[in-house]
Amino acid sequence: MKGKIAVVGTGNVGMAYVYSMVNSGVASEIVLIDINEASAEANARDIADGNIFYPRKVNIYAGQYSDITDAELVCITAGAVQKPGESRMELLSRNRSIMTSIANSIMKTAFDGIILIAANPVDVMTSLFAEVSNYDKTKIIGSGTNLDSARFRQNISNYLNVNPKYIHGMIIGEHGDSSVPLYSVTTVGPKPILDYIIENPNYDLAGLTHCYEDARDAAYKIIEGKGSTYFGIGASLKEITKAVLDDQKVILPLTVYNDNVYDIDNIYIPLPALIGEDGVEEVIKLNLTPDEFDKLKISANLLASKLK
Ligand code: NAD
Repeated sequence: MKGKIAVVGTGNVGMAYVYSMVNSGVASEIVLIDINEASAEANARDIADGNIFYPRKVNIYAGQYSDITDAELVCITAGAVQKPGESRMELLSRNRSIMTSIANSIMKTAFDGIILIAANPVDVMTSLFAEVSNYDKTKIIGSGTNLDSARFRQNISNYLNVNPKYIHGMIIGEHGDSSVPLYSVTTVGPKPILDYIIENPNYDLAGLTHCYEDARDAAYKIIEGKGSTYFGIGASLKEITKAVLDDQKVILPLTVYNDNVYDIDNIYIPLPALIGEDGVEEVIKLNLTPDEFDKLKISANLLASKLK
C-alpha cells in the first residue's frame, strides 16, 4: 500500500486532520499545500519532528500541486471559517473563489484519486468542485454529516448510558441548520430507538430531540468558546481517508452525488454511502418516513438554491 495523500489548506482543520492521521499511522506520505507556503513548511517540519513517536514513519513535506499526481486522496480544507453566530452557508461567498481556484489547480495535474472536501459550506463546496472540475462524480466526497452523526450518537450514548459504538444512527441532509436526524433507523444495539424510548419511562422523544439539536448546534457553541472547530473534524476526516486507503467498504453519511437514488434534486448532499478505494461505491437507499423525506427534500432544495 502506498498511503500517499495531500492536504490543501494547512490551517487548524488541515493540521488536526494530519495530526490524527500520523498518530493513527494511516498514511506514509503527506504533501502539505497552502497559499501560505511558510506555514505549510513549518507545519511539515513540526509534524516530522514527532516521527519517532508515530506508529508508522511518515514522509511529510510542503509541496505544490505537481506533487499530488500519484496521491490516492487529496483533502481540501482551505477556506474562511465561521465567525461567532455565523452559519456555514454564510461562508459561501468567501469560499467560492478559493474552491474554484483549487479545483482548477488540481485538474491541471494527472491526479486520478479521491477528492475529500471539508471546507464549508461543505455540501455546496463539494458541488462546486464537481461543477468546476467535471471530475468523476463517484470520486468526489464531502465530509458531510459524519461528524454531526458522531455527535448525535455520542449524545444518545450519554442520554441512555449505552456505549456509543452500539448506538447506530445518522443525520443526513445539509451539514448545517437544515440537517435531518433519522430516528426511524436509529437503534440501540439491534433495537429501534423509538421502541426503546416508548418502553422505558426514563426517556422520551423530547430527550432524543435534544440529542439531535445539540449535535446540530455543536459547532456554534465551540466557535463561541474557542473561535473554530478542528479536532472532531480532523478525526472524522481521518476515518474517511482510512476507509478509502484501506478499501474498508464502510457506510458513512457523506456528501455524495444523489444520482436518482432519492427522489430529490440530483445534487451533492449528505446521504449514507458505501465507501472504499474507488470512492463512493453505492449510495444506500433508506425507507425514510414521510416526515424525514419531507425534511430531506427541504434541505436538498436549500442546497440546490445556493448553487444557482
Ligand atoms: P484556518 O483559517 O485555520 O485555515 C485555512 C487555511 O487555508 C489557511 O492556512 C489558509 O492559508 C489556507 N488557504 C486559503 N486560501 C487558500 C488557497 N487558495 N489555497 C491553499 N490554501 C489556502 O481555517 P480552518 O479552521 O482550518 O477551517 C478551514 C475550513 O474548514 C473552513 O471553511 C471551515 O468552515 C471548515 N470546517 C469544516 C468542518 C466540517 O465539518 N466540514 C468543520 C470545521 C471547519
